[in-house]
Amino acid sequence: MKVVVLSGGVGGARFLRGLVEVVDPGEVTVIGNVGDDLEVLGLHVSPDLDSIVYTLAGLGDERRGWGRAGETWNALAAAGELGGETWFQLGDRDIGLHLVRTQALGWGEPLSAVTKRLAAACGLEIVLLPATDDRLRTWLATPAGDLPFQTWFVARGHRDDVDAIRFEGAERATAAPGVLDALAAADVILIAPSNPYVSIGPILAVSEIRQALARRRAPVVAVSPLVGGRAVKGPADRMLERLAGGTSPVHVAGCYAGLVDALLIDHADAWGCAAVEATGVRAVVTSTLMTDCRASRRLAETAVEAVAVLS
Ligand code: GDP
Ligand code: CA
Repeated sequence: MKVVVLSGGVGGARFLRGLVEVVDPGEVTVIGNVGDDLEVLGLHVSPDLDSIVYTLAGLGDERRGWGRAGETWNALAAAGELGGETWFQLGDRDIGLHLVRTQALGWGEPLSAVTKRLAAACGLEIVLLPATDDRLRTWLATPAGDLPFQTWFVARGHRDDVDAIRFEGAERATAAPGVLDALAAADVILIAPSNPYVSIGPILAVSEIRQALARRRAPVVAVSPLVGGRAVKGPADRMLERLAGGTSPVHVAGCYAGLVDALLIDHADAWGCAAVEATGVRAVVTSTLMTDCRASRRLAETAVEAVAVLS
């Protein structure tokens, strides 16, 4: 069974770690978000792609939730002593990956090709593709002004309310090689429990990808990132409240209007089922909290099995 997953960083990676135990990893293609990418200290960082690589390779720091385990911070500390920017945390081992990526991009290698090499070098069996090789960057309109994604998220701790989201470069961006073929060949397309606005939004901002989903033959199953109307981590709930007017399952489904056939929601949100189904989307109630690998596996299994309910 060929499975394609649209994914952000940490939430997506936690879901994928379960998925690869449920289906053959060789049959899984992940389309990752690049709207969070940034250049820092001359390095090209792709935080969401890297969260996926580190998590699936077993290299991730479980407790921190991002970056590599056993990390040291000497390079960043040295940069800081020399007056370099230190607001974006980069560990020494992490920097090693960014060096390889940045050099390859400088030589003209597309991001998709570099990502493929990095994923293979880390032993990943899945295919990991950036949504696009083109420059695509997320911007947030806030009461404090227009902010680039990482300035809003990391430097300012996502405390600013978001009034609107813009994806710079999206109009001209085309899907990375392999993305449209994978979507066309998929038996099921999953949307990971990632932030709908700033993790899945940038992927869907690539019009070729949005169109492929709108015209899908394979069913699309999304997993809500909210439990009891609250984000497990991060600003998804505050964004939904302000931009969609609420945090119930139907508000989550509304982010994917016309693009999904089923939405997995947590038991804590089961009361919101009927409103989702009234929009023509099947609501599947399950435990969506990925507290450990077993929970991730069960959630992935339910997502894949939801296809049977749909046909
Ligand atoms: P980021 O790019 O690193 O911010 O990660 P994602 O966008 O992929 O994931 C962030 C989202 O994952 C947040 O909105 C969380 O609410 C959600 N999330 C994190 N852990 C869980 C979990 O255990 N279950 C569910 N359903 N969502 C989760
Ligand atoms: Ca992200």
